[in-house]
Amino acid sequence: MLSDQQLFRFSRQLLVPQVDLIGQRAFLDAKVLIVGMGGIGNPVALYLASSGVGHLTLVDYDQVELHNLPRQVLLTDADLGRSKVTVVAEKLTLQCPDVDIQACDGRIEDLIDTLGQFDILVDATDSVTVAHFLNRYSVQHHVPLLYLSAIGTEGRLFMARGWRDDSACLGCWLPELSDQNEGCERLGVLSPSVGTIGVLGAVQVLRAVLGDYGTDLVCLDTWSLNQISVSVSCLADCRVCGPSAPG
Ligand SMILES: [Zn+2]
Repeated sequence: MLSDQQLFRFSRQLLVPQVDLIGQRAFLDAKVLIVGMGGIGNPVALYLASSGVGHLTLVDYDQVELHNLPRQVLLTDADLGRSKVTVVAEKLTLQCPDVDIQACDGRIEDLIDTLGQFDILVDATDSVTVAHFLNRYSVQHHVPLLYLSAIGTEGRLFMARGWRDDSACLGCWLPELSDQNEGCERLGVLSPSVGTIGVLGAVQVLRAVLGDYGTDLVCLDTWSLNQISVSVSCLADCRVCGPSAPG
């Protein structure tokens, strides 16, 4: 169960009926991988740590640059030039000392042997290549993948469980040759929009830890607040989760 200190720390969250003691215990036991410590990854990591998710592994290979600061709210001018993932891990450790936080300054492809330990994978990069790498792992090893993205004022959250007959994988919806990874650099992005998608992503992760995966795809315009939530159909000839996919 929870210690007296944990009961006090999370006392407000424990009152939420969807969480309760059992849910909070599940959060404390959960192992979550977050790839990308940018404008979305920062709030995902912050809110999962502050919600009591017990084990977070953060992955990024970038250094902190000036143009990161308006969106990546855990970073400051004093961090310029430092390893982004190291800075985020240091700040979260100060804020949430009970959380086991691992910082991996590198590429996700180099960590493939460690991915089996996680309950859920979160793609918070702006790289379609990374998203599809994680999607293939998700399908082959039956680990849920939450894909998060934001361009302009719009964001998308896609919960992929492509190994299931009733759930699409990321490849069923997002082509591998998509040019979205150039989206933010070319089209720009509003700072609070990425923050909103990150915070909503943290809620989706907490739901998933409790076995509640919700709708496959949510598209939200954070400016107008127009939103659509839809189920995504499996592509019969999907190269990742379809019958012709490599085993
Ligand atoms: Zn698929």
